[in-house]
Amino acid sequence: MNRNVVLKLSGVERHYGQGETLLSILKGADFALHSGEIVALVAPSGTGKSTLLHVAGLLEHPDAGEVMINGHACEGLSDEKRTAIRRSEIGFVYQFHHLLPEFSALENIMMPQMIAGLPRKEAAERAAQLLDYMRIGHRGTHRPAELSGGEQQRVAIARAVANAPALLLADEPTGNLDPETASYVFDALEALVRQSGLAALIATHNHELARRMDRRVTISEGKLVEF
Ligand code: ADP
Ligand code: MG
Repeated sequence: MNRNVVLKLSGVERHYGQGETLLSILKGADFALHSGEIVALVAPSGTGKSTLLHVAGLLEHPDAGEVMINGHACEGLSDEKRTAIRRSEIGFVYQFHHLLPEFSALENIMMPQMIAGLPRKEAAERAAQLLDYMRIGHRGTHRPAELSGGEQQRVAIARAVANAPALLLADEPTGNLDPETASYVFDALEALVRQSGLAALIATHNHELARRMDRRVTISEGKLVEF
């Protein structure tokens, strides 16, 4: 397997000012994620999981440190270049699916591809293939409201990887699902990662799912620690 480093965090710091006090969330976090690897980020609420994912996903700047995405050192780059890297290299999945309600599952997955310039036909073919990988090929014509929670999240995952990013960042993607559905969604996600060589960092409170990932990290005193 190709084991190049897709995400590298070095000495990442993030502090929030709250009135008189400074809240230090990340205090020199170091981390490396390789292609083909799924890593669980397990830590109590308020410890900085979302903050870490936002920094890793180039949605926020760290107050210190460096974020490397597929070999690009991102801190010195213009917002324009960061946005371009985010669009081409990174997919996001959130706890809530954020699918467009007026469009079908298939169209939701076609959208980012067409924005990236792919012809409609090719976008539709890839969307259908991704729905198959997520084991919901038969649900392509349905709108999000007509899908179950587990199906909605599988569409959201398919959309996140529609433009073949190197890195998938997921913030409690199964947090709204019952354990059995969460397990089923994770099965599909895992199959996708294994066949595509994607690297995935997944924040979760679900210890059962965390055990099934390749490695587990937590946030302790503002640093990332394997456990
Ligand atoms: P988690 O995802 O692990 O629950 P977060 O990364 O959302 O944690 O938040 C970590 C801490 O940082 C929390 O105490 C939160 O209140 C604080 N925080 C997050 N974002 C901001 C912000 N924009 N301004 C101030 N404080 C914030
Ligand atoms: Mg969070």
